[in-house]
Amino acid sequence: MIDFVGAGPGAVDLITVRGRRLIEEADCIIYAGSLVNPELLSYAGADCLVYDSARMCLEEVIGVMERMEAQGRHTVRLHTGDPSLYGAIREQMDALRARNIPFRICPGVSSFCGAAAALEAEYTLPGVSQSVIITRMEGRTAVPEREKLRLLAGHGATMILFLSSGMADRVQEELLRGAYTPDTPCAVVYRATWKDEKVIRGTVGELCKLTAENGITGTALIIAGDVLGSGYELSRLYDRHFTTAYREGEPPCDKEDRSGDNGGERQ
Ligand code: SAH
Repeated sequence: MIDFVGAGPGAVDLITVRGRRLIEEADCIIYAGSLVNPELLSYAGADCLVYDSARMCLEEVIGVMERMEAQGRHTVRLHTGDPSLYGAIREQMDALRARNIPFRICPGVSSFCGAAAALEAEYTLPGVSQSVIITRMEGRTAVPEREKLRLLAGHGATMILFLSSGMADRVQEELLRGAYTPDTPCAVVYRATWKDEKVIRGTVGELCKLTAENGITGTALIIAGDVLGSGYELSRLYDRHFTTAYREGEPPCDKEDRSGDNGGERQ
C-alpha cells in the first residue's frame, strides 16, 4: 500500500493525526525534501527507509514504490501542504494504477490556509469577495491561455499565487491589467507556519518593491484582494434575525414586528 500524505505547510504539528500515524507505521518514506519539514521524519520508526524526492525523477520514485510493494512493505509519499495542489500526484497515481499498486490519499493543511492564519485573514468576506482563485504565474510550467493571470485578475476576487514570488514584477503587472488597482491590499507570506515565517503587507502597486526589499524569492505565497482591507459586511449566518436549519432567528426589534404583524414570515 502506498499512502500519499499531506505534510502540512511547515510547522511539524500541523500534520493531521492520520498523517502522523501513517508516518509512524511506514516501512519507507519518500518525502519532498525541498519543502517538507524534515522534523516530521523523527516520527518514523528506526528501520524506516527514507528517500528525498527532490533528487529523484518520477521513474525513480515509482521504482522505489514498486520494490517496496513487491516486498509487502508500506510506503508513505510525503508531500508538502495538501497533495492536491501543485503536488504532481496524478502522474504517480496513474503509474501506480497501471501497475495495480493500491494507494490512498491523506489530505493536509495547504500553505494557503497557513498563510490565512498568519495574516489573520478571512478569504471570503461578505460584500467583498466570495471566491478564492488559486493560481500561479506562468514559469517553466505553462498555464493554459484561458487562465492567464490578467484574465483571472479581471474578477477582482481573492487571489492566491503559488510558485510565483520570484516573478513579483510580472504578477504586479498582470494584476493591474485586471480589476486590481495600485491601492488594492496584498501580502507576501514567506514560509507560513515555519519558525522563520515572514508576513509582508502592502499594496499591489508595491508588490515588486516589497518582495525585492525583503529578499523573497521562494517558498512564499502572494495574496491580493480587498479581503485584506478593512471593509466588509457582517455575515447572515450569525445575524440574530436570520433563521437557519439550526437556529430560529429573532423577529426584528421594531414595535410593529414585535406585535406579530409580520404574519410570521421569514426572510
Ligand atoms: N501542495 C502545496 C504546494 C506545493 S507547490 C500546498 O498545498 O501548499 C510549492 C509552492 O507552495 C511554493 O513555491 C510556495 O509558493 C508555496 N508554499 C509551500 N509551502 C509554503 C509555506 N509554508 N509558506 C508559503 N508558501 C508556501
